[in-house]
Amino acid sequence: MKDINIASLVKPNVRSLRAYQAEEVPCKVKLDANESPYSAISDQRSAISFKENLQTLNRYPDPEAKKLRGLIAKEFRVKPENILHGNGSDELIYNLITTFGGPVLYPVPTFSMYGIISQALGEGKIEIPLDDKFDLDIEKLLKAIKRYRPKLIFLSSPNNPTGNSFSTDRISKIIESASSPVTRHPSLVVVDEAYQAFSGKKSFLPLLKKYKNLAVLKTLSKIGLAALRTGFLIADAEVINEVNKVRLPFNVNSLSQAVAIEALKNKKQMRSYVSSIVSERKRLVNEMRKIEGVKPYPSDANFILFKVANADAIHKGLLKRGILVRNMNGAVKDCLRVTVGTPKENEVFLKNLKSSL
Ligand SMILES: *Cc1c(COP(=O)(O)O)cnc(C)c1O
Repeated sequence: MKDINIASLVKPNVRSLRAYQAEEVPCKVKLDANESPYSAISDQRSAISFKENLQTLNRYPDPEAKKLRGLIAKEFRVKPENILHGNGSDELIYNLITTFGGPVLYPVPTFSMYGIISQALGEGKIEIPLDDKFDLDIEKLLKAIKRYRPKLIFLSSPNNPTGNSFSTDRISKIIESASSPVTRHPSLVVVDEAYQAFSGKKSFLPLLKKYKNLAVLKTLSKIGLAALRTGFLIADAEVINEVNKVRLPFNVNSLSQAVAIEALKNKKQMRSYVSSIVSERKRLVNEMRKIEGVKPYPSDANFILFKVANADAIHKGLLKRGILVRNMNGAVKDCLRVTVGTPKENEVFLKNLKSSL
């Protein structure tokens, strides 16, 4: 076979990307991906409804996910026409950038997909460092908005990987400045609330009525249903209609729709898991504070960012002991990110963290 240089065929913006590395290393305790340690649905009743769905796998799923969107509309007190369903919120980020294009502005460090997808689609990125408290650097952000006129602004609050929520008034200022009629160049501000359930802070959803240039991202992934790949964009119907044009027809499969519907019918269960994770997070932060050489940062999410003297070595040391956490060294110097697990998993993590130091 003749040797053909495939790389020369690839678009330059894709050529310089690296495939997303989700670590699939064997481990005893998996605390690297901000998943819930509890499956949000596991009872008998669900298994029965699941069976019915297996008998219609020959049919395409509901392209509009009407029933699921109806339940989400009720849950968040919006109308179904304000909701777009995605194969995870990752897909909705992809759809948003496809629809509106760049430049795309976001603070750093933050969720890596904003940058990766912008680059994959050949759109410009504007990255503004967070301040020393990991909060939004409002002056720099406002200046950048004025100067670069971004089409899209992504704000993950609580932020991944730092764990804190951004100040509400700073987020509001950004939405306000990006909607100002004098600029005539509005930006769509996307508040990514993947971790909002763990935060005790108010959602930005009520502000949708006031700001047409606001959109909110929600996902089931961090509250016990990561395997379903189901997320939602909530925004003005006009925004939803535009983004819906680039959504692939059957993007959320029927099994995911069915299981998500079951889970949303039993919200009590999901809520109790969330509150147990929140109380474990508080305990975990307190315990980590007591360990010399470990500096945990305050968290509003289901994970904790922490600083150590040598992140690479500790990451390796933990892995050797069967504990997988996320190495953030690079994005945040000498930091690791641990997902809050079950009380037992957290104990094992604490014990092994101490012995890895
Ligand atoms: C995990 C995560 C997502 C991705 O969620 P999916 O719905 O699983 O695609 C989105 N935003 C942030 C900030 C995340 O951390």
